Amino acid sequence: MSRFWSPIVHQLAPYTPGEQPQDRSYVKLNTNENPYPPSPRVSEALKTYEMDRLRLYPDPVSGGLVRAIATHFETRPERVFVGNGSDEVLAHCFKAFFGHQLPLLFPDITYSFYPVYCGLFGVDFRTIPLRDDLSIAISDYTVANGGIIFPNPNAPTSRLLTLDAIEQLCQWHADSVIVVDEAYIDFGGQSAIPLTGRYDNLLVIQTFSKSRCLAGLRIGYAIGHPDLIDGLNRVKDSFNSYPLDALAQVAGIAAIEDQAYFENCCRMITDSRDSLSADLTGLGFKVLPSAANFVFAHHPDAHASALYQALKQSGVLVRYFGKPRIDNYLRITIGTPDECRALTERLRTILARI
Ligand SMILES: *Cc1c(COP(=O)(O)O)cnc(C)c1O
Repeated sequence: MSRFWSPIVHQLAPYTPGEQPQDRSYVKLNTNENPYPPSPRVSEALKTYEMDRLRLYPDPVSGGLVRAIATHFETRPERVFVGNGSDEVLAHCFKAFFGHQLPLLFPDITYSFYPVYCGLFGVDFRTIPLRDDLSIAISDYTVANGGIIFPNPNAPTSRLLTLDAIEQLCQWHADSVIVVDEAYIDFGGQSAIPLTGRYDNLLVIQTFSKSRCLAGLRIGYAIGHPDLIDGLNRVKDSFNSYPLDALAQVAGIAAIEDQAYFENCCRMITDSRDSLSADLTGLGFKVLPSAANFVFAHHPDAHASALYQALKQSGVLVRYFGKPRIDNYLRITIGTPDECRALTERLRTILARI
C-alpha cells in the first residue's frame, strides 16, 4: 500500500505466475514450458545477427515475422498481429474488444489472467461454471454478452472443445468478439484459425512459448479479420510501438519456418503425456483427458496440497492452485521422459508413506 498509488492500483489483484526458482535446480514441471530447446535454426539466427543493428529500433510492426506467420497459416499478413507474448496480445484484446455494456463471459475455471485483465481495464465479466467433469458446455453460453474468451484446450483442465462447438458460438453471438486462446492447441487439438476466414467475430491467439520452445523470447500472435487486427494495432500503438525486440523477430521467423523440428517436438511431448497419464493412473490418480502439454490430476487418497509440498521437498515442482473446485488437483507439465520418470518415482515413494 502506498499513498502514491493511483486509485486503480489499490484495486488490482495481480496474476501470480508459477514459481521460477533461481536458488536450486528443480525438475520443473510447473509452468508448461517446453522441456526441449528451440530449433537449431533459432540459435543460428541469433548467432549470425549483426550486432550493429541493435543500435536501431526494431521494425515496429514486426513485418518479417508477421509475413512468416501468415505464410505458415496460409493467410494474409493483414490478418496477423504479433505481440510481446500472448499475454500482451490478450491484454490488448481486453482493451480493444471487451468492456461493453454487457459482461464478458469466461469459464469459472480457466486461465487466471482473464479476471486480472478485467480488473486492469475495468471490464465487467460473468463466469460460467464448468460442468462437473470440468468440461465447457457451450449450451451454457447462450446469454447475451459483450464478448467470450476461453483457452482451447482449457487451462488448467487440459480439456478440448470441438471446432463445431466454437463455430456454433460464433454463429450464436455474431455481434460479440469470441477470443480463442490456443496456447496449447498444437498438443492435440484442431486450430480454429481456418474458421477466422468465415467469422469476422472470431480471433485466435497462439504463442511461441509452449509448442515452439521459446517462452524466454516472448512472442505471441493473433489471427482474425483485418478489422480486429486494426483494433489491436490501435491499442498497441497507444501503448508500446515496439513490443517485439529485433532478436525476437528474427528468432521467431527461424522457429516458425522449422516445421519438422516443431512436429517432432510436439510428438515427443504427446507421447510422454500419454505414458505419464498411464503411469499416474497406475499410481491411483484420476487424470483428465489431456490435449495439452500438461495433465490435470487428483488422487483419491492424498490431498493435492500435501502432494505438491512433498514433491517440492523432493526437488520436483508442479503447479497447485488451491482454488475452489480445483483445490484437490495438481497441474503437471509434461517434461522429458527422464523428468516424467523422476516425478512418478518420487510420487510412488510419497504415496507409499501415507
Ligand atoms: C502460457 C499461456 C499464455 C501465455 O503465453 P505467453 O505467450 O508466454 O504470454 C496464454 N494463455 C494461456 C492459456 C496460457 O497457458
